[in-house]
Amino acid sequence: MAEGHYCSIHNTTFFKKGKMRGYAHPIKDEAGEDTGQWCNEEDLEKVKSGIDETRKPKPVPLQEGEEPLPKSKSQEIAEHVWWKEMGEMLRAKDIDVTKPAGKLMRTAYYAKMLSVLDIKIENK
Ligand SMILES: [Zn+2]
Repeated sequence: MAEGHYCSIHNTTFFKKGKMRGYAHPIKDEAGEDTGQWCNEEDLEKVKSGIDETRKPKPVPLQEGEEPLPKSKSQEIAEHVWWKEMGEMLRAKDIDVTKPAGKLMRTAYYAKMLSVLDIKIENK
Protein backbone atom coordinates (compact mmCIF):
# COMPACT_ATOMS: atom_id res chain seq x y z
CA MET A 1 0.00 0.00 0.00
CA ALA A 2 1.31 3.44 -0.89
CA GLU A 3 2.52 5.42 2.10
CA GLY A 4 1.67 9.03 2.69
CA HIS A 5 -1.63 9.34 0.86
CA TYR A 6 -3.91 7.32 3.09
CA CYS A 7 -7.01 8.76 4.80
CA SER A 8 -7.25 7.27 8.29
CA ILE A 9 -10.69 8.81 8.79
CA HIS A 10 -12.33 7.03 5.87
CA ASN A 11 -9.85 4.15 5.63
CA THR A 12 -9.25 4.81 1.99
CA THR A 13 -6.44 6.08 -0.18
CA PHE A 14 -6.23 9.56 -1.62
CA PHE A 15 -5.61 9.86 -5.32
CA LYS A 16 -4.69 12.65 -7.69
CA LYS A 17 -5.44 12.83 -11.37
CA GLY A 18 -6.24 15.27 -14.15
CA LYS A 19 -6.62 18.84 -12.96
CA MET A 20 -6.96 18.00 -9.27
CA ARG A 21 -4.88 20.44 -7.25
CA GLY A 22 -4.01 17.89 -4.58
CA TYR A 23 -4.63 14.40 -3.29
CA ALA A 24 -8.27 13.75 -2.38
CA HIS A 25 -11.01 11.11 -2.38
CA PRO A 26 -14.80 11.32 -2.66
CA ILE A 27 -16.70 11.01 0.64
CA LYS A 28 -19.32 8.29 0.79
CA ASP A 29 -22.28 8.13 3.12
CA GLU A 30 -23.34 5.25 5.37
CA ALA A 31 -24.89 3.42 2.42
CA GLY A 32 -21.70 3.76 0.37
CA GLU A 33 -23.27 6.33 -1.95
CA ASP A 34 -21.25 9.31 -3.11
CA THR A 35 -22.12 12.46 -1.16
CA GLY A 36 -20.68 14.74 -3.83
CA GLN A 37 -18.20 15.96 -1.23
CA TRP A 38 -14.48 15.42 -1.29
CA CYS A 39 -12.03 14.75 1.46
CA ASN A 40 -8.81 16.63 0.71
CA GLU A 41 -5.52 15.44 2.11
CA GLU A 42 -4.41 19.05 2.51
CA ASP A 43 -7.48 19.92 4.62
CA LEU A 44 -7.06 16.76 6.67
CA GLU A 45 -3.54 17.79 7.59
CA LYS A 46 -4.82 21.24 8.59
CA VAL A 47 -7.54 19.76 10.78
CA LYS A 48 -5.09 17.34 12.38
CA SER A 49 -2.68 20.12 13.32
CA GLY A 50 -5.58 22.31 14.50
CA ILE A 51 -6.84 19.53 16.75
CA ASP A 52 -3.37 18.97 18.17
CA GLU A 53 -3.11 22.60 19.21
CA THR A 54 -6.53 23.38 20.57
CA ARG A 55 -8.60 20.27 21.16
CA LYS A 56 -6.34 17.72 22.79
CA PRO A 57 -8.19 15.24 24.97
CA LYS A 58 -8.15 16.50 28.53
CA PRO A 59 -7.34 14.24 31.47
CA VAL A 60 -10.44 13.26 33.38
CA PRO A 61 -10.28 14.39 37.03
CA LEU A 62 -10.71 11.62 39.56
CA GLN A 63 -13.49 11.69 42.14
CA GLU A 64 -12.55 11.62 45.82
CA GLY A 65 -11.62 8.10 46.89
CA GLU A 66 -11.74 6.75 43.36
CA GLU A 67 -9.12 4.28 42.22
CA PRO A 68 -6.87 5.69 39.49
CA LEU A 69 -7.76 4.09 36.20
CA PRO A 70 -5.14 2.33 34.14
CA LYS A 71 -3.67 4.79 31.67
CA SER A 72 -5.22 3.23 28.60
CA LYS A 73 -8.67 3.34 30.17
CA SER A 74 -8.47 6.99 31.24
CA GLN A 75 -7.08 7.85 27.81
CA GLU A 76 -10.07 6.09 26.28
CA ILE A 77 -12.45 8.12 28.44
CA ALA A 78 -10.66 11.38 27.61
CA GLU A 79 -11.06 10.59 23.93
CA HIS A 80 -14.70 9.73 24.46
CA VAL A 81 -15.25 13.09 26.18
CA TRP A 82 -13.43 14.82 23.33
CA TRP A 83 -15.65 13.25 20.69
CA LYS A 84 -18.73 14.02 22.74
CA GLU A 85 -17.67 17.66 22.98
CA MET A 86 -17.09 17.75 19.25
CA GLY A 87 -20.61 16.41 18.71
CA GLU A 88 -21.99 19.11 20.97
CA MET A 89 -19.99 21.78 19.15
CA LEU A 90 -21.34 20.52 15.84
CA ARG A 91 -24.92 20.53 17.11
CA ALA A 92 -24.43 24.00 18.63
CA LYS A 93 -22.95 25.12 15.28
CA ASP A 94 -19.74 26.18 17.03
CA ILE A 95 -17.98 24.45 14.18
CA ASP A 96 -18.54 26.17 10.84
CA VAL A 97 -19.36 23.25 8.55
CA THR A 98 -19.46 25.52 5.51
CA LYS A 99 -15.66 25.72 5.77
CA PRO A 100 -13.58 22.76 4.54
CA ALA A 101 -12.01 22.22 7.96
CA GLY A 102 -15.40 22.25 9.69
CA LYS A 103 -16.85 19.93 7.08
CA LEU A 104 -13.98 17.55 7.64
CA MET A 105 -14.41 17.64 11.41
CA ARG A 106 -18.08 16.78 10.97
CA THR A 107 -17.14 13.95 8.63
CA ALA A 108 -14.52 12.72 11.09
CA TYR A 109 -17.07 12.87 13.88
CA TYR A 110 -19.64 10.84 11.96
CA ALA A 111 -17.00 8.34 10.89
CA LYS A 112 -15.96 7.98 14.54
CA MET A 113 -19.55 7.55 15.70
CA LEU A 114 -20.10 4.88 13.07
CA SER A 115 -16.98 3.01 14.17
CA VAL A 116 -18.03 3.29 17.84
CA LEU A 117 -21.41 1.84 16.99
CA ASP A 118 -19.60 -0.83 14.99
CA ILE A 119 -21.57 -0.14 11.85
CA LYS A 120 -19.73 -1.38 8.84
CA ILE A 121 -19.76 1.11 6.01
CA GLU A 122 -18.24 -1.19 3.48
CA ASN A 123 -18.85 -4.87 2.92
CA LYS A 124 -16.15 -7.12 4.27
ZN1 LIG B 1 -11.08 11.00 4.02
